[in-house]
Amino acid sequence: MPRRPYHVGVSDLSARVIAVVPGSPAESAGVSVDDVVLSVNGQPIRDVIQYRVLTDEAEVHLDLLRGPVSTSVEIQKAAGAPLGIEIASALFDEVRTCDNHCEFCFIYQLPPGMRRSLSLKDDDYRLSFLYGNFTTLTRFTEADLERVVTEGLSPLYVSIHATDPALRVEMLRNRRGATSLRWLRALLDHGVEVHGQVVVCPGINDGGALDDTLLGILDEYPDLADVAVVPLGISDHSNEPRMRAHTRAEATAVVELVDGWQETFLATIGRRMVFAADEYYLLAGRAFPPAGTYGEFGMHEDGIGMARAFEAEFTGATGGDAIGTQPGFFSWVDGAPAEGYRAPRVAQPVEIRARRTAPVGILTGPLGRAVLGPLVDTLGRDDVRVIEVENRFFGGNIGVTGLMVGEDLVRALGAEPEGHRYLLPDVCLSGGRFLDGLTPGDLPRPVEIVATDGVSLRRALTWEP
Ligand code: SF4
Repeated sequence: MPRRPYHVGVSDLSARVIAVVPGSPAESAGVSVDDVVLSVNGQPIRDVIQYRVLTDEAEVHLDLLRGPVSTSVEIQKAAGAPLGIEIASALFDEVRTCDNHCEFCFIYQLPPGMRRSLSLKDDDYRLSFLYGNFTTLTRFTEADLERVVTEGLSPLYVSIHATDPALRVEMLRNRRGATSLRWLRALLDHGVEVHGQVVVCPGINDGGALDDTLLGILDEYPDLADVAVVPLGISDHSNEPRMRAHTRAEATAVVELVDGWQETFLATIGRRMVFAADEYYLLAGRAFPPAGTYGEFGMHEDGIGMARAFEAEFTGATGGDAIGTQPGFFSWVDGAPAEGYRAPRVAQPVEIRARRTAPVGILTGPLGRAVLGPLVDTLGRDDVRVIEVENRFFGGNIGVTGLMVGEDLVRALGAEPEGHRYLLPDVCLSGGRFLDGLTPGDLPRPVEIVATDGVSLRRALTWEP
């Protein structure tokens, strides 16, 4: 099953129909927008995963709630064919919320006044399967394991942070953190593909603690698909006194430590397994590792090898294809808003009003600038510039493009001339809105929304089809 079978979020918890595909079996059977699916073939449905399994049959009986009235429809179709319904949510019962209280959680660092739906702390293996969200497994149960295994819910994404039980308890501020990695072992024993993540908080789980964690991973979980080592993202709104950004020396130490462990993993299990996030190389002022280091770019969506992937796409080395899907671009910021960069972007097509010959400004965050600047320079064009948008909304060390918001773009674009083309990466949009609730229509200059990959950027710059 694809990881994103529907354009759904997690803020509207019902199986409410939001679209019916014209000419589909569902339309022929009379299913309407705003119907709520109560059960499929007599079985109440908990989530879109179960819905997909049950609607795979050739004959499907839907019990629906239409306004206050219960009704039902019979649908005949080819086995395996979709019904043609789009549903409002991925989960129809309730999101399993997180009971950890991590000092580094990004949800605790949001500016005041943000939408409540952005503050959802999920720790639900189903969202891990559907969206690539990371779960700590502290709320995982035997019944969950059985479902994951029997329904083949793989891959999953697990936050490790530390393999030392006491340190993991300290970091999650949850005593179940000491034992919940037993579920990771169980998942791997059942052949589930699992991608791991370590969020590094300087002074807490770096240095010797990170060494211990990577040794623990090699020792206890060598069958993990890979492990992303990512730096703490800290905004101006954190109230945690121990949390701070890495210094350059600390970032360099992490890069060197991970490099060393890659050699150990390569020699021991035949693959590198552990990767430092691109942001570490930028912080350390080091060149990114060669593209070949990242294999198939398996953690591309988690900020691992993204710069090299973008470069390969931009220079045509991928044959005109973008690398992977990007539902979670920089989604490694742990505890990031569930409706943030994990939700569908649903960018509206934008009419291109600027002249083809107009100068071009590419809008991006400070980290994106470090990646895009050298690539754009290779074009040798003096009509294309990269516009760095400072993130004052979150502040701190937040420089990823995915967290650019409307009010910062209003300020940046207000200082730019009219009549130019302005390219905006779609990664900073969620459901057509920025995280601060503004939309591209609120910006003082028209922008063209471009998919966040090198192929799309190059096409936008060269007008290639
Ligand atoms: S970082 Fe993740 S696991 Fe920790 S409190 Fe936030 S949502 Fe929960």
